[in-house]
Amino acid sequence: MKGKVALVTGSTSGIGLAIARTLAARGCHIMLNGFFPAQAGQTPDQQGQALVAAMQEEFGVRVAYSAADLSDPEAIAGMLSGTVEQLGAVDILVNNAGIQHTAPVEEFTTTQWDRIIAINLSAAFHTIHHAIPHMQRQRWGRIVNIASVHGLVGSLHKSAYVAAKHGIVGLTKVVALENAANGITANAICPGWVSTELIKRQIEDIVEREGTSFEQAQHDLVTAKQPLPNMTSTEQIGEWVAFLCTEAAGTTTGATLAVDGGWTSQ
Ligand code: NAD
Repeated sequence: MKGKVALVTGSTSGIGLAIARTLAARGCHIMLNGFFPAQAGQTPDQQGQALVAAMQEEFGVRVAYSAADLSDPEAIAGMLSGTVEQLGAVDILVNNAGIQHTAPVEEFTTTQWDRIIAINLSAAFHTIHHAIPHMQRQRWGRIVNIASVHGLVGSLHKSAYVAAKHGIVGLTKVVALENAANGITANAICPGWVSTELIKRQIEDIVEREGTSFEQAQHDLVTAKQPLPNMTSTEQIGEWVAFLCTEAAGTTTGATLAVDGGWTSQ
């Protein structure tokens, strides 16, 4: 996959950043996308350029950054054309960006529902819609959608997230079928608990509330859903994505890969 161009949405932190780093380590040129937390004296664009410079230095590949807000279809179109203009192609597309909001369905506001569906589902339609013609012309492409166990099963208070993730699993299957003869594969990865800053903060809250150790709180949180007591690391997700982009995975398409410690085997 050396020399391929990969666009990874939501790659300024967490799973997306690990995927971008894993693909860069395999020699892919990378288009980064996502937001940054407000930082005194630095604009988001400056933070983006700092990450670009650091990754170029570390991996010796070309890296660019798009600040496109994925809730805006026009910004997505601009990000796709920007990827082709700046990096020359779009060979690998990883739809990773996602947000969460929890509330019982009757308390979910229309704004919260619409935003989750826009970012977690519709954005992937728009990126795929614009990337597929490029992939079809070159008769090679890899699309990897980061869904969730919530693309396979439900959980309380996550109506929009679960609906969007089930939607992305369906979208993946249709894109795979439509492009089966075009050298393009489309697959969805469905992680259970992944060790990210967000989850770490959730565990720290439990520690503070219940006075248990970090290890105990993490164990209790994970095993409430997963038989296997370890969280998946962001790097492990990166490795799955990289494998799906190899020729060895060339006949894997339309698949939903549970990386969930047995969560959905129950
Ligand atoms: P994260 O919050 O660390 O990363 C989300 C990324 O998306 C960030 O780069 C953020 O800037 C970007 N983003 C958010 N809204 C955006 C917007 N409107 N436009 C552009 N970029 C935007 O989260 P994460 O835990 O790394 O999650 C990444 C993906 O993995 C999500 O789709 C999430 O649903 C999925 N997932 C996470 C877990 C987990 O346990 N962390 C489990 C299963 C699935």
